[in-house]
Amino acid sequence: YGDAGNLSRRHACRNADGEFLRVGGLGLTGVIIKGIGGFYYVKAEDDIIECKARGRFRKEGLVPMVGDTVSVSVKNGKGSIDEILPRTTMLIRPAVANIDQLVVVVALRSPEPHAALIDHFLILGEHSGIETVLCFNKADLPHTQELVDIYRNAGYRVVLTSVETGEGVEELKSLLKGKITAFAGNSGVGKSSLLNALGAPEGLETGRVSEKIQRERHTTRHVELIELDGGALALDTPGFSSFEMPAVKAEELQDYFIEFAPYIGGCKFRGCAHISEPGCAVLEAVEQGKVSKLRHNSYKELYQELKKVKEWET
Ligand code: GDP
Ligand code: ZN
Repeated sequence: YGDAGNLSRRHACRNADGEFLRVGGLGLTGVIIKGIGGFYYVKAEDDIIECKARGRFRKEGLVPMVGDTVSVSVKNGKGSIDEILPRTTMLIRPAVANIDQLVVVVALRSPEPHAALIDHFLILGEHSGIETVLCFNKADLPHTQELVDIYRNAGYRVVLTSVETGEGVEELKSLLKGKITAFAGNSGVGKSSLLNALGAPEGLETGRVSEKIQRERHTTRHVELIELDGGALALDTPGFSSFEMPAVKAEELQDYFIEFAPYIGGCKFRGCAHISEPGCAVLEAVEQGKVSKLRHNSYKELYQELKKVKEWET
């Protein structure tokens, strides 16, 4: 479980539009969209089927997760999960399987974007083997193009959106089609507004949700997939703090800054940390403007943090 080798098997259960299909002999195949009090709600074709998990899962130490592709059967009006198909990805917190894509939402303005926060999420996506898209929202507000260019040039997939004007919403919609997507970003960047614009059911609450309710939702670890337009599934907007950050070693951090890759082998010293070493090819690339200073500063900031954690633990 958790490796990406079983993609084809999982995707074989969906058609080109990302709809879930009946698989011969296995009953219905669907996706668990939420679990409450021992019941799992499985979206299969146009139905949501309330299911219990078979007892043998517990014996095997297997717990169905939101996002799992499962085969279900219905007998005497009662649904049961018969099989859990291999997982392609797995996040522990929030506990969700088979996330195909992470959309990191950043407001171009209000709240002001912070590169280290963006990079945190990019690292999470990379670490979990989840494709990551950077969505710069509130494009209708006056802003500079600097951050957008930096991340585009670094090699990330970037979309500019505005819920106010509708800019980029169709482009984002096409990226979500047939996938399970998690939206991450700090509060106020417009995640709920975007989900509504993408066709979330019955209007998610935006802006007005009180801090207290937000806290409760997050402490109860509410995990639910919601259906958007075009057969897309999305993880209901957890806040920044509900994502567990991966245990990356300071020495490995360089691999998560994808634009450093061409330079890393060229440093004078093996084990160069690319902070202030002489003959460092990454620093040279920063000097020459080939690697953004802002990204390198963010790297240094995260590197020092990770180093501190390590010293602290040992
Ligand atoms: P969340 O905390 O990330 O879910 O953010 P919300 O969706 O609640 O949005 C926070 C605030 O930003 C609300 O007042 C929204 O109306 C506003 N907002 C969201 N998207 C946009 C946008 O594209 N442009 C502008 N100008 N405001 C937006
Ligand atoms: Zn170096």
